[in-house]
Amino acid sequence: MNKRTFLKQLGLGTGAALAFPTFFTGCEATPNEDFKLWVWTGGDDKTSEDWKQEFTKLKEAGFHGVLVGGGHNTLPTAIPEAKALGLEIHAWVWTMNQPGDKEAQAHPEWYAVSREGNSSLDVRPYVDYYQWLCPNKPEVQEYIFNKMMDICDLEGLDGVQLDYVRFCDVILPPGLWSKYDLVQDHEMPEYDFCYCDTCRDKFKAKSGYDPLDKEDPSQDEDWKQFRYDSITEVVNKIAAGVHERKKKLSASVFASPSLARKFVRQAWDDWDLDFVFPMIYYKMYDEPVEFVRTATREGVDALKGSKPLYTAQYLHDKNAEEVRQSIEMAKAGGSEGLAVFNYSLLSDEFLEVIKAAQKA
Ligand SMILES: [Zn+2]
Repeated sequence: MNKRTFLKQLGLGTGAALAFPTFFTGCEATPNEDFKLWVWTGGDDKTSEDWKQEFTKLKEAGFHGVLVGGGHNTLPTAIPEAKALGLEIHAWVWTMNQPGDKEAQAHPEWYAVSREGNSSLDVRPYVDYYQWLCPNKPEVQEYIFNKMMDICDLEGLDGVQLDYVRFCDVILPPGLWSKYDLVQDHEMPEYDFCYCDTCRDKFKAKSGYDPLDKEDPSQDEDWKQFRYDSITEVVNKIAAGVHERKKKLSASVFASPSLARKFVRQAWDDWDLDFVFPMIYYKMYDEPVEFVRTATREGVDALKGSKPLYTAQYLHDKNAEEVRQSIEMAKAGGSEGLAVFNYSLLSDEFLEVIKAAQKA
């Protein structure tokens, strides 16, 4: 199942706001601004009235902001409703992974190339919706930058939230290995990117050698750092444009700075973000709930107070007690808030748990 089908099955795009009865009756919670609540949402078919109902429910539960996918199809309707209720609204956008993007597909040379020499457009790693662009091609950088600014310019929008802002997973979080029948105790060439001419030439000009000249390029620290820096460069260019427009930039990233580097070459603690959402989905890492505390702490320490960190949790694989525990752990790790994926999974039971745990 690809992500889009999956999102559809979760109810996004099908008027999810109508799927839940109105639970709150006007008794507005006092939001705890020391621990901010965020939620991912979307839905191309939602009307202004749908958004109003959804956002009212969130506001009454003490939510601070919404991360809304769908770009120009959803945001012009959603933004005024969020603003009217005093919610922050950020555009949730995919960055380096651009499945089915017609403009990008008109330039097959824009796609990242694996250590085996295959383009991510032709040979898609793990899943069909993995179609990764090369972060070092100037044309790709320009294309992504323009795409982000086009969204950022929407009237009333508070900011842009980057997702898939990384390389393809060279190593999957361990909880997913069995799903793909893999034991990824080393970097496998078919999942290791990007070895296109642009990347290799740029690295060679800097370091004096081609990574492919190494017997095992996966062991080369300079080559790893080069790729962390490649993503950082893309992010910081977007950040400059977003900040010029007096808006905010954030990103959803892998669980901790060390694991994000290891799995997807994200050095997110180096990025010019205004805040960050580490996706500490502990079950995907095959870890107990305490991992939420330790990974949050690692991120908070790495950021050294430069920006807020809001721990993200996936609701699909959790019961109410697990949601409560993960909020407790996020707080113990020094998180300044919680972001949940996603609105259609936010049952009344979860809402009550989140409200109570936020205040605890
Ligand atoms: Zn490349």
